[in-house]
Amino acid sequence: RLHNLIQELKGNIRVFCRVRPLLPEEEERQKNLEHLRFPPQDNKALVLCRPEESHIGRDRRGDVRYDFSFDRVFPPAASQHEIFEEIASLVQSALDGYHVCIFAYGQTGSGKTYTMEGPEAFDPETRGMIPRAVRQVFQGAQELAEKGWEYDFSASFLEIYNESLRDLLAARSERGTELEIRRVSSVSEELHVPNLRCVPVACEEEVLGLLRTAAANRSVARTALNDRSSRSHSVFQLRIRGSNAGRDLHCASILSLVDLAGSERLDKSQSRGGDRLRETQAINTSLSALGLVIMALSNKESHIPYRNSKLTYLLQNSLGGSAKMLMFVNISPLEENFAESLNSLRFASKVN
Ligand code: ADP
Ligand code: MG
Repeated sequence: RLHNLIQELKGNIRVFCRVRPLLPEEEERQKNLEHLRFPPQDNKALVLCRPEESHIGRDRRGDVRYDFSFDRVFPPAASQHEIFEEIASLVQSALDGYHVCIFAYGQTGSGKTYTMEGPEAFDPETRGMIPRAVRQVFQGAQELAEKGWEYDFSASFLEIYNESLRDLLAARSERGTELEIRRVSSVSEELHVPNLRCVPVACEEEVLGLLRTAAANRSVARTALNDRSSRSHSVFQLRIRGSNAGRDLHCASILSLVDLAGSERLDKSQSRGGDRLRETQAINTSLSALGLVIMALSNKESHIPYRNSKLTYLLQNSLGGSAKMLMFVNISPLEENFAESLNSLRFASKVN
């Protein structure tokens, strides 16, 4: 099919849409999801209708009904397990030397952190893509050991808040230190972050320990700074180096899992300048920079504008080339979030 061919040529960028379920406390306010429609027999389609119109049950063309199509659309009932199954082979390819980047995009409250991390301490049923990916990588490495592959892993976890980088694995005394992105040498395009903790890890449990440290570090910041976690990007990276002595082969790659800052627009009536405005501008700048980088990559443009935000600059080495990318666009099921949902779906369609 032509569609598949185009998909192949377009290559390495996929977009998955996930609509979270109504939470128990929301069910009192809203009885159904009529404004979001999942065409049966088509797991790639989503229709968003203006809530007023969907109540009347009338679809005028154009301004009331919006059709979207992604690589996959997951309705509220989709489980973490089901979703991970669709990305397992992508994650596995990190062991073959491909850089892999997975993003979660959406407004605050749409389910990004649930998707990436899960609701709580890595419960086996509900844990998110990060712990599942980590398990997959270590299991995959064990299987490849039989073919002579040996792997080294190290993990880092940082946060980008207001265009400044902080290490979420840093010791208490170093926690406030701002990190910088530097070139490895003046003749190299390769970047690194001096002083970022990059912890050697040998098994799944060690990584889970680091994830707990990062979560604890972030919750400290949260109480101090009005839910800063939803205003910052968090970037988990697993560096993978493999070698096969028998066959004289080597590979190196980075698996990045990024929980992006909330994409919501600032309500103009509330913008009184100050911190909140600056935060929002930083977020808008970096999310649109990310969108532009992905679009430039998918159009195979010669210039990719990595330098326009810390996030894209940080990921410069792991986006592009043969890198594989996946973006989750997370959608709230609430009618009151219609405008934000439409924005998110439009953003995601642009990069798809
Ligand atoms: P975000 O990180 O985008 O701000 P969260 O991941 O914190 O959003 O999700 C908001 C709320 O919805 C949380 O209480 C979370 O546990 C819940 N939630 C999100 N996605 C799901 C899901 N698929 N199933 C059940 N609850 C979910
Ligand atoms: Mg979150």
